[in-house]
Amino acid sequence: MQATTQLLHSIPVDAQTGAIAVPIYQTSTFVQEAPGVNKGFDYSRTNNPTRQELEKIVAKLEKGSVAAAFSSGLAAIDAVIKLLESGDEIIAVNDIYGGAFRLFEKVYKKFGIRVSYVDMTDLSAIHRAITLKTKLIWLETPTNPTLKVADIRAIAAIARRYKLLFAVDNTFASPVYQQPLLLGADLVVHSATKFIGGHSDVIAGLVIAKDPEIGQQIKFYQNACGAVLGPFDSFLLIRGLETLHIRLKQHTETASRVAAYLKNHPEVGEVFYPGFGGVVSFRLKKDSSAAALRFVGATKLFHLAESLGGVKSLVSHPASMTHKTVDPEQRKAAGVTDGLIRLSVGLEDATDLVNDLEDAFQAVGEKSSSRKKTKTALLSI
Ligand SMILES: *Cc1c(COP(=O)(O)O)cnc(C)c1O
Repeated sequence: MQATTQLLHSIPVDAQTGAIAVPIYQTSTFVQEAPGVNKGFDYSRTNNPTRQELEKIVAKLEKGSVAAAFSSGLAAIDAVIKLLESGDEIIAVNDIYGGAFRLFEKVYKKFGIRVSYVDMTDLSAIHRAITLKTKLIWLETPTNPTLKVADIRAIAAIARRYKLLFAVDNTFASPVYQQPLLLGADLVVHSATKFIGGHSDVIAGLVIAKDPEIGQQIKFYQNACGAVLGPFDSFLLIRGLETLHIRLKQHTETASRVAAYLKNHPEVGEVFYPGFGGVVSFRLKKDSSAAALRFVGATKLFHLAESLGGVKSLVSHPASMTHKTVDPEQRKAAGVTDGLIRLSVGLEDATDLVNDLEDAFQAVGEKSSSRKKTKTALLSI
């Protein structure tokens, strides 16, 4: 059976009523027959039927044993870091999501957890960064926003050799294109706010564990710290999952066309697109904040906003938005220069999106350049 069929049919029909959609159990507590005697649920922070259904579907989709749904992607990352202790060290990917960097540096540092940042496409750099205190390798692949792809299988081998936990933030690839647990990772994390939710209408996070024991530890922190996903938001994620494969297929088709258009554009210096997914980044030849800010202010279909993975296209300027909290030197080293622009290519028609970008280039270049390419010429790209 194909993955999309499997996914759709892992969403159960409600046994009690026959409802084909998962019911939203919007309740905080559950009546008990006697103290401790219940129907499997006692309080919705600990467990809720709608959230439990989501967690089951996602565990299957990512080929894990246990999944836990959180109130945000960052809460999901936070739950994984809580597996560590003061004095432990993390080796993290250098062009890490800005919010994860802030969590590591501004929160966990003061609890005695140190993080070193390395280019994970360089396996020898990972080897060199390992110390006796290293406990966790933290990878994002493709990375945000330069979409660098690392070799999960090779990094998993390093993690196994040194007995390190290995977690992969799979937000950008989604389980459609990448299943890190099958490649040797121990934990997968998602900002389900992005492709899994898919409609820019929910903030949510997921952790999926390969090993049931580690999964139970994550569940413990989920309940003990309390950043759980509510029943309605859990329902929204289930609904998003139903169209995940078909959305990703279309995101990829449209983003590929946008990337091809940008590659041929004289004002674009470099294009970053791994060949799948909906995120395309590019560097303007005029690699300055002023030029990038003018461009992101000129698009009409691409709305200026943080986030990605929704049905409507978005444009952002990482240096002044998502990566603002990253130290400028480190930001530059990771390729997040001032003229870098990130697109989240949505489900609009590809030709309309390309035309919108062309209009923005023209609006920005009007004063300085006499370049006049007609829109019809672009339709063939
Ligand atoms: C957005 C994002 C996060 C954080 O998720 P939230 O749902 O915003 O808390 C983590 N990792 C990556 C790669 C992201 O894009």
